[in-house]
Amino acid sequence: MINVCYRFFKYDSGLVESLRRVYGSDLEKFFEAIRKPGKRLYVRVNTILANRDYVVESMAKKNIFALKDPILDEAIYFNVEGPFDVPMGKSLVIVDKRTAESVILGANVYVPGVLKILGKATVNDYVTVVSPMMEPVGWGVLKINPSSIGKLKKGLAVEIKASRYKTTKIRELEEYKMGLLYEQSLPAMITSVILEPEPGETIVDMCAAPGGKTTHIYQLTRGRAKLYAFDHSKSKINKLKEEIRRLKMRNITVQKADSRYLHVDYPFLKGKVDKIVLDPPCSAIGVRPKLYDEKKYSDIINFAGYQFQFFKPAYELLKKNGILVYSTCTVTLEENENLLGKIVEKYRFDVEKISFRKIGSPGVKEEFKNYVLRFHPHVHDTPGYFIAKLEKF
Ligand code: SAH
Repeated sequence: MINVCYRFFKYDSGLVESLRRVYGSDLEKFFEAIRKPGKRLYVRVNTILANRDYVVESMAKKNIFALKDPILDEAIYFNVEGPFDVPMGKSLVIVDKRTAESVILGANVYVPGVLKILGKATVNDYVTVVSPMMEPVGWGVLKINPSSIGKLKKGLAVEIKASRYKTTKIRELEEYKMGLLYEQSLPAMITSVILEPEPGETIVDMCAAPGGKTTHIYQLTRGRAKLYAFDHSKSKINKLKEEIRRLKMRNITVQKADSRYLHVDYPFLKGKVDKIVLDPPCSAIGVRPKLYDEKKYSDIINFAGYQFQFFKPAYELLKKNGILVYSTCTVTLEENENLLGKIVEKYRFDVEKISFRKIGSPGVKEEFKNYVLRFHPHVHDTPGYFIAKLEKF
């Protein structure tokens, strides 16, 4: 049975109950926060190529103002302004959900993201860009002929002139093209910091693409760890390789693999790995901005079952006293604290106390409360995020 929760979130009653176990009477506040982008857009400086002060100053000379994060030395952020009203054009361009969620921050629309054009607009007319739920997210100039939709494969479709929120377009910066910047949320950066990777160690990223954590670990070890990055998707592996090239990093072993079977397919790694980061697919309920969403409690259970399968290879690969950092961009107990409960029951893993406490909240369940780290969108103005540290014994 589908229950319409907070108009934009079609979650069944099982999922709503599950989220209430986490947020109680704050659930509405949580939903309100994930509909919007955070007030800061976080970017990691590639400290292998340049230092943070240099990057911030050289951008400031071009009137691009980044701020230095007080918590992490490699993090900078750009302010996100808004919400602004989006002008209504006579014609509407309906884009897919993902495109709408980036247009809302000022990104342009490219051909693959367009679903339909309504009205009589033609090239160079102003149009309003709307989500599949017809919510206006941006306004700009149409760059393609509506009759060519379906024939064109790529290219600019709408050049956005006004959007609901505004921030720096990272991907268009010269510094980005030079490989000095990587867009990444603060909790995602904190995950690799908690791993405390060291030069000389053997480190595995089990679900690596597009490479946020892999490339951060590379930085933290100054490129001097034996770093393996696995992912099972061919297209995402290509994206990961492209990012590694853009950031000018070398000697990362990138392999297409189903990481649930690494202990079978990579027997030479068994008992040889010092540290592992495991950031598996999850229900992504913490990801923002999220214009709308539709999910069932059974989806959550399926994700948790899938996540569980990565712990056997992780256990087999690690040396004794090896460290596993587990992270998700979701908030359910089933994929986070409860999953840890099942892991420590089945494998010889201890949940370790995370000492990094400069930002974030304790866990939700008594059992691991002061061990794990949680981020709440309506409290920390970050994505909803979970980090745990385990040690093999
Ligand atoms: N850690 C990444 C984000 C990972 S998203 C970063 O920080 O940038 C989860 C990834 O898990 C996806 O890229 C997906 O392709 C991959 N994945 C899903 N199932 C997998 C499996 N069985 N084995 C390896 N990778 C898998």
